[in-house]
Amino acid sequence: LLDVKSELKNHRVVFGGVELGKELLFIGGHCTVDPKEPSLFYETADALKEVGVQALRGGVWKPRTNPYSYQGDVKALDILMEASRRTGLPVNAEVMDEEQLDIALDAGVHMLQVGTRNSLNYSLLRQIGQKVAGRETVVLLKRGRHMGPVNEFISAAEYIVNFGNPNVVLCPRGTLPGLEGYRNHPDECITPLLKERTWAPVVVDPSHSVGKALYVESCSMAAVAYGADGLCIEAHLNPSIGLGDDPKQAITPEAFGKLVAKCRTIWELK
Ligand code: PEP
Ligand code: MN
Repeated sequence: LLDVKSELKNHRVVFGGVELGKELLFIGGHCTVDPKEPSLFYETADALKEVGVQALRGGVWKPRTNPYSYQGDVKALDILMEASRRTGLPVNAEVMDEEQLDIALDAGVHMLQVGTRNSLNYSLLRQIGQKVAGRETVVLLKRGRHMGPVNEFISAAEYIVNFGNPNVVLCPRGTLPGLEGYRNHPDECITPLLKERTWAPVVVDPSHSVGKALYVESCSMAAVAYGADGLCIEAHLNPSIGLGDDPKQAITPEAFGKLVAKCRTIWELK
């Protein structure tokens, strides 16, 4: 195994035209791409690009707590990739198994997301590491909702990078038990620890952390104050009709624009 921290200390992850660490990265988009409403995703994507978002997110396959909830649909992948072509922005989508991983890589998904539920799934982490080796693909590794010590998170990242692609981004997204009133226990405050102990950039997900649109802006600003290199945020033109988490969590592109300006102001203080 590599001594990852020292081997990679000069490695810079570039995504969405942004060298992480040099400029704040904003990833935005629906929790879940609705395969029946392609234009909704295209319109959200255009509106987000307009307010400064440099990369899109959109769930294709969804890890739902309830087996009767909408589980995703591979048809959404075409919509995601078409939005990428139309806007020129790269896209993030979660994969949960090897079959989805192959499909996403074939389609050209730029950033593979490992969700909070799979961040300790070592066989998936190993498969992703093997399959992204030799590619430019970036992996957004969410922090496990029950992860304790920071080392557990860092070791999960090392499962991926040990196969040779160092483009891993660490994503705190809140842990359980949640803080009363929030969906999870916000954990953007671990950013300085991750920075001290790893080579990897940190992109915080305030949406799943606090779980309510109303609190996303303050959590984002706190994340930037703690040293985050970027934010991954659920956003929708009309959150009330979104699939998955969007009705509660997603912010509008207009709110996103205000958040971008405030976060950049904090970033400038560094
Ligand atoms: C998501 O990004 O929509 C998602 C399901 O994330 P997490 O794995 O953090 O819950
Ligand atoms: Mn979601």
